[in-house]
Amino acid sequence: MPRRPLHRSNRAVRPIAPAPCRRPGACNLDEEKSNPSNIIEGHHSLCDYEENKRLYEYEERIKKSFDNIVPTLKNIAAIQKESNFETKAQEISKSSLGFEMPKEILANAWVDQLDMPKLFAWCVFHTYCRFSNEFYAEAPLSHDFEKEFDGFVQSCGFHTVDISPCADGRLAHLIRYVLRLPHKNVRRKSYAGAMFDIDNSIEKWIETEMLRFREGKPNNASDNTRYLKIAAYHFSSVDPTNQGCAAHGSDDSQAAACGLDRLYAFKTAIENSFCCGASIDLLLIGLDTDTDSLKIHMPDSGGIISLEHFIDTKKIFENTDSLNRESGRQFIIEQIRSIFPDATEGMIKFIAYIIENNISQIDYVKKNYGDSYPDIGHAERFIGAGVGFEEIQLRNLMYFAYLQTVEEAVADTDVGIKIFSGLNVKKGLPIPIVIRFDYHGQVPSARDRAIKHCQRVSRAFKERYVKLEDQGMLQILQVVRDCNSDAAIEIINCSVTPVMNGEH
Ligand SMILES: [Zn+2]
Repeated sequence: MPRRPLHRSNRAVRPIAPAPCRRPGACNLDEEKSNPSNIIEGHHSLCDYEENKRLYEYEERIKKSFDNIVPTLKNIAAIQKESNFETKAQEISKSSLGFEMPKEILANAWVDQLDMPKLFAWCVFHTYCRFSNEFYAEAPLSHDFEKEFDGFVQSCGFHTVDISPCADGRLAHLIRYVLRLPHKNVRRKSYAGAMFDIDNSIEKWIETEMLRFREGKPNNASDNTRYLKIAAYHFSSVDPTNQGCAAHGSDDSQAAACGLDRLYAFKTAIENSFCCGASIDLLLIGLDTDTDSLKIHMPDSGGIISLEHFIDTKKIFENTDSLNRESGRQFIIEQIRSIFPDATEGMIKFIAYIIENNISQIDYVKKNYGDSYPDIGHAERFIGAGVGFEEIQLRNLMYFAYLQTVEEAVADTDVGIKIFSGLNVKKGLPIPIVIRFDYHGQVPSARDRAIKHCQRVSRAFKERYVKLEDQGMLQILQVVRDCNSDAAIEIINCSVTPVMNGEH
């Protein structure tokens, strides 16, 4: 595939503004004047410690709610022949997990062995529903910069930020944690190996431009802004040959090259189809899944991105560690300019923003986990397949396969099933799969179509992985959600009976 897009882009040059604050109000000139050094021992002056604390508490709490399931079931299994088993089991479940087990499954324990795989799947699904409901009802990951973000992005010369990361669960926190962007304002679609679907991206681009043209949202079509498409590949600095991208056989250069090829193919397709005014900017990002630092590959003036030429945010973190905030920000801008002299002022502003945000995340990993995450490999708790999953903003929680049909996404689902065959099936635990289709409630019959999608994908999973299905190792929860409202997910079906009702 050619690396060079067919058309050179007309790039607007805009004056650069200071890097924005992560949170409005955080950039206080009086504060800067009264504390010009703003350096605290052991603290990075560009790190947002308040936000780090909030994000860590949330991540810990949610992951614990999933990780407590197996130890709790072991405790329950140990007492299953005791008298008054059901009452004792419910007491253990309530105190460890915060909810009761289904009576129907516990009631059979005295005649037969407790059905642990079934109970495990039920608990994972129930925990998922509780977590998802909290996300939509209480907005625990709301972003202080949410309202200003669209205006900020436009001031950088973009009207849309569209990111396609790898489906690997170790990238699921890319938007809200690694880049610290408001998840509601950024489009995310995940694909194995970041090999995003060109046609789907073209559809989204058309929809975006149509909205600008017809409704002036998020800005008018006449405004000189561009559609920013980002592909995110990944690699492992601790164990590069084993813990890189499974979709590319842990070959980092192949992972990066394939992501880049997709970006060029997307841009070429748009420019060939729509020509003038089909303004797209590309960005390639590589995530070190062990430290959450980034390699940022920016385009030159001809729109060409080099795989060898990138900004390493880990180095920027180290080089700004002893600087005060203003000097640190200045250093970042200078670094971008020296590595990418062709970069537009808008792109520099945007990149400086995400570099500063990423410094908080690098510090987050260092302070909470040390030199790297303890779970450098896969440790996802379940597979998610379909369209939606806005609530999944945590690392290694869910393997995500964005799909309309299993047939079109076999690469993604095969990788997911392979990962979970190692994580769960080897230990005698089933693979929990949440099939989810979000729909637009104002569109007639959209809910019905979402339900049919769920049913069809569920059937396809069972047919494609028939051996696992026959062994009872595939457990499926089907949910839909009206994404035009703040509503919770709606449970359509569950392979584990009794079907939970989603109320807590
Ligand atoms: Zn991957």
